[in-house]
Amino acid sequence: MNPFSLEGKTALIAGASRGIGLAIARGMRDAGANVILAARSKNKLDELAKELNGRAIELDVKDSGSIRRAAEEAGDVDILVNVAGTNVRKRFEKFLPEDYEHVLQTNLHGIVTLTQLVGARMIERGKGGKVISIGSLMTLVGMPYMSVYAITKGAIGQLTKALAAEWAEFNIQVNCIAPGFILTDLNRDMWEPEEMRQWMKGSQANDRFGTPEDVAPLAVFLAGPGADYITGQVISVDGGQSTTAKWPFHPPQAPPQA
Ligand code: NAP
Repeated sequence: MNPFSLEGKTALIAGASRGIGLAIARGMRDAGANVILAARSKNKLDELAKELNGRAIELDVKDSGSIRRAAEEAGDVDILVNVAGTNVRKRFEKFLPEDYEHVLQTNLHGIVTLTQLVGARMIERGKGGKVISIGSLMTLVGMPYMSVYAITKGAIGQLTKALAAEWAEFNIQVNCIAPGFILTDLNRDMWEPEEMRQWMKGSQANDRFGTPEDVAPLAVFLAGPGADYITGQVISVDGGQSTTAKWPFHPPQAPPQA
């Protein structure tokens, strides 16, 4: 048994048009999976589907009709990867109801509906499956101006644990990846100022930005047979951001040995 092989498996990647989702789609294709790429940018997905020898499906996770159509069109799926996400950064007291709706619908409600539909079909089919959702550092720690995003990503982490317990009897493993600071379209502007880049250098063990390709291999592993005994986990890919810090202390030099 090759623990990393996805040969013969079908993976639906929701949010596959760029960034982390696209890197995961590429990684799963390379591991042998048939990939179904879903997002709103259908033209782009059509191009990518040609490149990856997969299928493209239009999906807007803010629209329940679109989610239903996409789940139907996807058909039998062995691996569901929930990647679609957005962020609004503001002081908590300044969030407008429409900001709140937008982030909740995209990062949580749509993912819940999609996971219900795809999961129900996995259960009915009786061949087990894998559900992998993309959480965040905000699944684990608090940072300012991301309160609403943190609500959604915290919930994704808890949903992972509850579903892992509930769907174990159907041999469906459910896990969550918590990426750290991964440079993508979602945050490129925020990291532009030198002050922000310098802060990053001092703040975590591996002090470079992550790339989508840093995140994808864990998703591929969690989707394969090597991860059959891993479920209900939130696993960080964050250069140590959630567990490490740097400081300017250096111990005194040891005296030379006599
Ligand atoms: P990105 O490059 O902006 O990609 C976001 C993806 O989500 C795109 O494929 C986009 O496709 C899709 N999407 C957005 N709204 C959608 C909607 N309404 N319906 C369907 N698809 C939608 O961002 P990313 O950095 O790769 O982020 C991917 C995931 O990782 C998100 O859940 C994000 O919260 C999480 N994450 C990112 C970081 C980071 O530092 N980058 C860190 C932690 C967690 P369309 O626009 O074509 O629909």
